[in-house]
Amino acid sequence: MKAIVLHRNGGPDVLRYEEIETPRPGPGEVLVRVRAAGVNHVDIDIRNGLSGMKGNFPHIPGVDAAGVVAEVGDGVTTWKAGDRVAPHFILSCGVCQNCLKGAENMCHNFGILGATTWGTYAEYVKVGQHHLVRLPNGLSFDDAVSSYVPFATAWEALVTVGKVGPGETVLVNAAGSGVGTAGIQVAKLAGAVVIATAGSPSKLKRAKELGADYAIDYRKKSIAREVLRLTGGMGVDLVLEMVGGKVLVESVEALAAGGRLVTIGAHGGEQVKFDMIEFFRKHITLHGCGRSTKAIAAEALALVAVGKLTPVIHRKFKLKDAAKAHKVMESRRFFGRMLLNP
Ligand code: ZN
Repeated sequence: MKAIVLHRNGGPDVLRYEEIETPRPGPGEVLVRVRAAGVNHVDIDIRNGLSGMKGNFPHIPGVDAAGVVAEVGDGVTTWKAGDRVAPHFILSCGVCQNCLKGAENMCHNFGILGATTWGTYAEYVKVGQHHLVRLPNGLSFDDAVSSYVPFATAWEALVTVGKVGPGETVLVNAAGSGVGTAGIQVAKLAGAVVIATAGSPSKLKRAKELGADYAIDYRKKSIAREVLRLTGGMGVDLVLEMVGGKVLVESVEALAAGGRLVTIGAHGGEQVKFDMIEFFRKHITLHGCGRSTKAIAAEALALVAVGKLTPVIHRKFKLKDAAKAHKVMESRRFFGRMLLNP
């Protein structure tokens, strides 16, 4: 098969488009023909060998995809060739205490597709039979992969963990990212007032088109000061945060009394200094999450299939142009998802 193969860590040029042996499904495994794969920031970490993502070479990156079951291994009864599926990026063990409780996203023994196993930047990807979600009828492969990680992650963060309610005010940072575009829509669907932040006028305009009620250019204005101005000094009830650094600190300052902040990423600064007094003075809570369950992903895809949530695609690339897609992601000049089509 053709795939993007890493032989070492480094810049975008280490993403080599090559012929490599097609994986064969063993007992309990399923081989999926990839029709679309997503480009995620974690792929860049894996490429660079950052965030503890040092792998064995040769390695194929890619944490998400949508496609068709091509072949099943011995003992697979749930799936058959031709089924439309998406692999789940958290490869849970299925037998630990958290898996047994239905919290497979907090599995004690999890792997990550495209990090601990060969991923989806390829014509085929092999996964365990329990690591697949069935695609709703009528949902295209491109829309499925554009939706899966962003909407499942935003749903996990805002609904399951953040417990967003109607009438609440929600701050969504990095509104131009995949999860940001999803977070705006999920918060609106829950009946919230949404304040979005982004780093350019065009991204702020797009955020408003997606339903954000207010938009703040964090490069020009203080998030905390603007939020307090927009909320009459109250602050926001909930923050979806994925930037880290100064943006995280300002988001804590922007919280109302009793507010919650859910953090799912910190590429803009992983070491942060807080004034802890804010936490008990305002009764605020900081939650970490970022890995959804398959059930949440399936629910999110169902909402996309009926048009309640809309995936935002920045650009589609041919698989061989994965390096170009990584360069665009590193430039931050994108709005929504980038796809690779093998
Ligand atoms: Zn487990």
